[in-house]
Order: sequence, then C-alpha cells, then structure tokens
Amino acid sequence: MTVRATKRGTERTSLDGTRVDVLICGASFAGLAVARELAGSGAEVLVVDRYEVGERQTSACACPTPWLQAMGVAGAIRQELPYMSFTTPHGSVRYRLPWSWSAFDYRELCGLLWAQAGDARFETAKVEGRAGRDRDGDVLVATDRGTLRAPLVIDALGWRRVLSSPHYQPPDAPLSRGLEVHPDHDGSGDALDVWVERGIVRRGYGWRVPAGTEARIGVGSYDPRRHVKEATVALAQRVDAGAVRYQGNWFPHRLRDGVEDGVFFVGDSAGHCFPLSGEGIRTAFYFGIACGREVRRVVAGDQGREHALAAYAGFTQRHARAFRIALGFQRLVPALPPRVLTLALRLIGTQAIVDRAFGWYLAQAPPSFEAAERPPARPPDRDARRALAEAA
Ligand SMILES: Cc1cc2nc3c(=O)[nH]c(=O)nc-3n(C[C@H](O)[C@H](O)[C@H](O)COP(=O)(O)OP(=O)(O)OC[C@H]3O[C@@H](n4cnc5c(N)ncnc54)[C@H](O)[C@@H]3O)c2cc1C
Repeated sequence: MTVRATKRGTERTSLDGTRVDVLICGASFAGLAVARELAGSGAEVLVVDRYEVGERQTSACACPTPWLQAMGVAGAIRQELPYMSFTTPHGSVRYRLPWSWSAFDYRELCGLLWAQAGDARFETAKVEGRAGRDRDGDVLVATDRGTLRAPLVIDALGWRRVLSSPHYQPPDAPLSRGLEVHPDHDGSGDALDVWVERGIVRRGYGWRVPAGTEARIGVGSYDPRRHVKEATVALAQRVDAGAVRYQGNWFPHRLRDGVEDGVFFVGDSAGHCFPLSGEGIRTAFYFGIACGREVRRVVAGDQGREHALAAYAGFTQRHARAFRIALGFQRLVPALPPRVLTLALRLIGTQAIVDRAFGWYLAQAPPSFEAAERPPARPPDRDARRALAEAA
C-alpha cells in the first residue's frame, strides 16, 4: 500500500480556531495557482491539503508548454511533445500543433509553484466540509484538525467539491473516470498519442504521454459507470509496456458555478476541466489566477468580498460557451461511425485547419492571461487587514 506524506499522530496538533485572511483548501494545480497569485499581497494565507505539497500525482501531467513557461515551472518538464497522433480502428493521423504539449514531473512542478507563493503557510489537514459562518461573516471550514475560519475561502479540492452541499458523488454526477499506468520509458517519441476506439472504451479515449524516464498510458471513460482497468491494461500491452504503478481519479466534464454561499471554487471543484479532452491543468492555472486576482483586490481594499465573488462567478460564466461546445463534441465523437470519425480526422489534418482548431482551443484559456491584467500592488498606505475586516 502506498504511504502518502502527511502529518500523523502527535504531529497532528489542533488548528482549531485558526483565523486567516485567505484560506485555500487544496494544494494541487488550482490551489497553488491561487496561492502564487497572492504572493506579496500582504494577506495572511493558509493552504491546507490532506497530503504534503506534490505528494499525490493527480494526472498524466501533460500541459501546453507555453503555460508551463508562463507559470515559471518549465524546470519540471520531462519531455516536450510537438505532435499529437489520433488512432481509430481504421487508421492513424498525426498533427503538428501550433504549440506543444510538455509532460512534467508533478512533485517538482508543485514545488516550483509553492516556491512562488511568498509567505503563504501550509498545513496538512483533511477538509470535511462547511461549518457555516460566524457572526463576523467569516466562512468556517471543518477539518480533522479543527475548524478554520477566513473571510475569503477557496475550494480547490478537486472533483468532489467538498465545500459544497451536497458534494459531487459518482456515478450519478457529471464525472468521467480515468486510470493510467506509469511504465519505464526510454525518452523516445515526440507525440501525445490518443486512441479513439470503441474496442478500448465505448465512450472515451486512451492516451500515451511519453515523459522522459516513464510513460503515462491510460484510458478515460466519459461514462462514470464504466470501469477502465481492463482497458488500461490492454492498451499498455498493445504498446508493449508494463501495467505498473497505477494512478486514477474522477474528473468533471461539466462546468459548475464558480461561487457558492460565499466560497470561491477553482479547478475541478468548479468543473474547470475541459470536456472531450479531459484537460484540467491549464484551466486550473487560468481560473486560479483569475480567482487570486479578485481576492488580491479585496486584500488591497479595492473591492469588497461580495464584489469579488460576483466578478469571479461572472468570469467563470463567460467561459460557459466553450465548455458547452466541448461537451457537445464529447457527445458527438463517440456517436460517430468509426469510418466517419477517421475521415473527419483526415480532413482536419490540413496544417491550416490544425493551426486554427488547436489555436482556438488554446485561446479558451490562453497563457498570455498569466502576464495580463495583474492588479496593481497594494498601495503601502492601505491597511490590508482593516480592508479584510470590512470585507467580512
Ligand atoms: C488519469 C487522469 C489523467 C489526467 N491527465 C491530465 C493531463 O495530462 N493533462 C491535464 O491537463 N489534465 C489531466 N487530467 C485532469 C486533471 O488531473 C485535473 O483536471 C486537475 O488535476 C485539476 O486540478 P485541481 O487542482 O483542481 O484538483 P486536483 O489536482 O484533484 O487537486 C485536489 C487537491 O485537493 C486535495 N484534497 C482533495 N480532497 C481533500 C480533502 N477532503 N481534504 C484535504 N485535501 C483534499 C488533494 O489531495 C489534491 O491535492 C487527468 C485526470 C485523470 C483522472
């Protein structure tokens, strides 16, 4: 059994009653992106996760290279993949993308993000749910180390949406499921390979992400009732790789509200994972930055908490069309006769169309967002703590 790094036994002292300006629940892509955005804001930021930072890999860890560069985490890249291949029962196509994917090391990437989070504090704690609000308007969060409170609370806890009531629960929630293996690899290959074959999975796809010394080979099903273990093992065998070191999880395929009852939701907890592709790292960065900026403006005294919540909810909602389009394709692709799908993939394969289609896709959460619209630094003569008390 895998033993995850977390605080145990006597190390697990009580945090009960801890009050901070900003409480970020979840220390993966979304939570760390918010924390990074708050560096130097003057706010007292506490990040909690059930495991230590970078401890539990949650994906195949492939992300558009320009996003990894924009986030200052390119050092975690293990292999750059400028191509994508798509295989159906009737053939394969190979596209050169207008941008590349990069496979990265999860632990290292999280470490690099955390290093940019300034004075933020980290504690391991399992978040159990909301515990209401106190008289000052602070949000109360129940954890296994006691109740934490803050005027600004972010749920970056992944697909379950822990700070919502009720939580999302498979198999009835709009969730996909994925499982992958991580066999040794020789560093060869320049493509992220995708299989769309009903023989592998009825509604979903298989993938292989070469990542330096390991490959990440897996299968995702848009139907949460379908188990994917057999399919994952079969795909690994098909590409002559061992089915070793399993890693799996659920991931959302429908956008959810960005805000609920005074709490910000970012990343998978807000359904920020693109339908069809199941790509949720770049969007966790993107919406994490957007959320962090709204929170930062509250800390600076430039807006109240309610305004920040509304602005972030509106920002999330403005992306609803792109998520709807992707969900439409997620329904359409598995329904297409395989020969039609193969033909469509060939027709799309003209470089001009590939550039256009993948350019549109990247533009839905573009890396240029990282550098744009950063709120001004807090004026030195403003008292952030007072601004926060007023916000609450
Ligand atoms: C098999 C698989 C492969 C994937 N491959 C890719 C890929 O290559 N590229 C891509 O872009 N997307 C991929 N995805 C999707 C991607 O993993 C998610 O969209 C992404 O991880 C979302 O980031 P997040 O920070 O919102 O949530 P998560 O990464 O799920 O992080 C949630 C964090 O909250 C913590 N947590 C959860 N519950 C609690 C609790 N109760 N108390 C305390 N802490 C808690 C967890 O420990 C974790 O650190 C894949 C998904 C799967 C399942």
